[in-house]
Amino acid sequence: METYGCQMNVADSELVAGMMEKSGFAESDSESGADAVFLNTCAIREHAEDKIHSRLGKLRMLKSENPGMIIGIMGCMAQHLKDNILQNKPFVDFVLGPDSYRRIPELLRRHEETSASVVDTRLSRFEVYENLYPSRQEGINAWISIMRGCDKFCTFCIVPFTRGRERSRPVESIVKEAQQAVDHGFVEITLLGQNVNSYRHCDARFPELLDAVAQIPGVMRIRFTSPHPEDVDDDMLFVIRDHANICNSVHLPLQAGADRILQRMNRTYAQAQFLSLTERIRNILPGCGISTDIIVGFPGETEEEFDETLAVMEKIKFDSAFTFKYSSRPGTKAAEYSDHISEEVKEVRLAKLLDLQHEHTLFRNRQEIGKTVNVLVEKESKKSSSEWAGRTDNNKWVIFPKGSAEIFDFVDVTIIDARGVSLFGEIIQVGKKSHAVV
Ligand code: SF4
Repeated sequence: METYGCQMNVADSELVAGMMEKSGFAESDSESGADAVFLNTCAIREHAEDKIHSRLGKLRMLKSENPGMIIGIMGCMAQHLKDNILQNKPFVDFVLGPDSYRRIPELLRRHEETSASVVDTRLSRFEVYENLYPSRQEGINAWISIMRGCDKFCTFCIVPFTRGRERSRPVESIVKEAQQAVDHGFVEITLLGQNVNSYRHCDARFPELLDAVAQIPGVMRIRFTSPHPEDVDDDMLFVIRDHANICNSVHLPLQAGADRILQRMNRTYAQAQFLSLTERIRNILPGCGISTDIIVGFPGETEEEFDETLAVMEKIKFDSAFTFKYSSRPGTKAAEYSDHISEEVKEVRLAKLLDLQHEHTLFRNRQEIGKTVNVLVEKESKKSSSEWAGRTDNNKWVIFPKGSAEIFDFVDVTIIDARGVSLFGEIIQVGKKSHAVV
């Protein structure tokens, strides 16, 4: 199984892998030795789909040498382009939408008998993959999907069409899965949802769920992604403030700064509301890392409106940002707008935005110099085998000499420098997983 796109897909692939293992299938260590190859796909941008088309071209060649090999496409692109795939890629055996995974073992067995192609892209109002436990690859962080789908219908986004309506899992089942992950040695839990903080199950909303997960003994760090600004309330911020093991960082997608564009995007907030929300976050959660997503070149965006995005960034100075050129997605409302922006203009705007964000990241990171921060050691630094890389509670990467620390340790690190997007420090104290206070 190959996974493309967002963390929801990573979590879904782990879920499918867990289910397949339970049904007697085993993972192959190479694609050439595999009886079946599944691509878990993304449809959020045209580029993501192009990548899959080219990967399918290579798999087709592999299949010509091994005609029995099964090729499956699952996830958002399968849901979005099902007819196109069926017509243009007859060598694809399975096309499965995000709500069809429970049936994969059964469908594979049926395919073995009939060899007929299988298309299953029915979206469900209820499927939350209750009581299916994932086969996790990563050692530190366990992704736990708490809700699926989205009801927001931002005009640029294909997700409500590929993933269907919002539905949430019961608190007890999420707590049980988190407890199980802790029992297996995971120290960090990331709660996932397309719109994670519009979680609601019976009377429980997102703050209640966060509170329940934070009380599980042994959960050292809790993160969540991706929230919608409309659903951030003070209750959520107070729960983060009141639990030391909920990380002091919030991802808050701005998308655009000008009110007219926000309205055209159907983002449900205006610039002033977003600004006051970030102020409230910083008042209630001092030192909170705030990251964002921004799209440049949305249809009709004028130069002045783009400048408003830069002005909002200047006011907030996000700790980090994921920045994108608008990519038209057939089937969405924005794709029908007649005033699309040229690629050249989008490129220029993106470069400006990246430069500004780079300044702000450095500005925020320099404020950490001199502080001693608690870091979870996650991996070896890419640049040096004598250094570790780990994240702070407010989601900043820190590079530091290994000393006696090991992966999984929580260490106190004094920050001595900030360069690029990273902090650099020296270990003051190694505390073997001892810093979480529940
Ligand atoms: S909130 Fe908007 S951008 Fe996020 S998944 Fe829903 S429709 Fe897409």
